Amino acid sequence: MDTTLRDGEQTPGVALSTEEKLWIARKLDELGLDIIEAGSAITSKGERESIRAVSNEGLNAEICSYCRVMKPDVDFALECDVDSIHLVVPVSDLHINVKLKKDRETVRQMAVDVTEYAKDHGLIVELSGEDASRADLGFLKSLYSDGIDAGADRLCYCDTVGLLVPEVTTEVFKELSTSLSAPVSIHCHDDFGLAVSNTVAALLAGAREAHMTVNGIGERAGNTSLEEVIMILEWLYKYDTGIKCDELYKTSRLVSRLTGIPVAVNKSLVGGNAFTHEAGIHVHGLLADTSTYEPIGPEVIGRERKIVLGKHAGSSSVTLALKELGLDVDDSQMKEILERVKELGDHGKRVTDADLQSIAEVVLDIYTESKVKLEDFTIVSGNKVTPTASIKLNVEGNEVVEASVGDGPVDAAINAIKKAISGVADVVLEEYHVDAITGGTDALVEVWVKLSKDGKVVTARGARTDIIMASVEAVLNGINQLIRDN
Ligand code: MN
Repeated sequence: MDTTLRDGEQTPGVALSTEEKLWIARKLDELGLDIIEAGSAITSKGERESIRAVSNEGLNAEICSYCRVMKPDVDFALECDVDSIHLVVPVSDLHINVKLKKDRETVRQMAVDVTEYAKDHGLIVELSGEDASRADLGFLKSLYSDGIDAGADRLCYCDTVGLLVPEVTTEVFKELSTSLSAPVSIHCHDDFGLAVSNTVAALLAGAREAHMTVNGIGERAGNTSLEEVIMILEWLYKYDTGIKCDELYKTSRLVSRLTGIPVAVNKSLVGGNAFTHEAGIHVHGLLADTSTYEPIGPEVIGRERKIVLGKHAGSSSVTLALKELGLDVDDSQMKEILERVKELGDHGKRVTDADLQSIAEVVLDIYTESKVKLEDFTIVSGNKVTPTASIKLNVEGNEVVEASVGDGPVDAAINAIKKAISGVADVVLEEYHVDAITGGTDALVEVWVKLSKDGKVVTARGARTDIIMASVEAVLNGINQLIRDN
């Protein structure tokens, strides 16, 4: 059972519209979930409209509404055309005495009455013990038995505040699954980070159903994470869940986007870093065989591997990253790319795929028969001086030194270049654009230029953390293209 739309929506600050609930429900159905808890019908008119929309969407999954042990809750669920109800009855003395201000026998009778009422109205009933992990097990079992006699189809054991430990879960589920004649499900919360462990322990000990949410969202520390349980069963226990695992990542993204709850970068399987590699030595292993540093291939859950380069980058990590981008480089190009990556890394930047692509493409252009090469470059700029650039170029084997002023440092630099190459070509700068590829003032800057010479037009780019150097690089790149094409 997926309860993203009910317990997941109880995450503080989350409220899903009908359309959003429908998107998520369709995705859960496509994944192959057996039951979708679509909401709590008693909550509001809007909530009932959403649940009804999910019920009437023609999905394969059983559609369920949460209900308290009260007949009006069941009536509201019936209005929503659901197949089943998750009928929750408090079972610990704390909840019975303090919250409800009732006693065990009254609560037992309420559970029986409402179960019978729901069954009389054609609903599938999952009778659920709230705070079961703090309840007296003898009382709980007798309440469950009475529920079965009243017609309950399934039972649920809730670890409402996340206090279970796996050994206890195993004991309890061995007991419940052998002594009761209806299937028992497990509902966990992650207050101590044990929701997934307890859920798996329960399933191994005889639970027939588990309540889970996408990304583990839910009240407080959240619920059992669906993607973790599915992949643990599939990969670690070799159990075929029937879930379309390669849609798990997309589902995670969809839920994160619609609920506005970000997924931690280090979250298992679906976190941003779960299939991202940086350290040089690991990438070397990955190049030989991706299973050296990956438990499963990212494609299993519909993801892609990411190679992030930084100051630790070695040539093997850059090679792998370039391979993933489909770029071939020779040794001198590789040396230049690696130097630029490390330069960014030294600024504390992580080099993204987009950064690397820009760097590589620029280097590939420059190192293809450049007739004009940069040897030296100086710029003077400030509020009391006229921006002045001096430049030393190697133009077809001859050293040329020039200087020029300009309206700003970029203008001065480009004027100096134009003067230096005037003997070879008269180049006109037609257009100039700057983009920061990633955020921050130390980000890689990409400069695009459009240059023309005798009616011929080329575009070229440069990529550096320094905007002036990126501009110089772009212009030289374009000049080399114009000369080469002569
Ligand atoms: Mn819950």
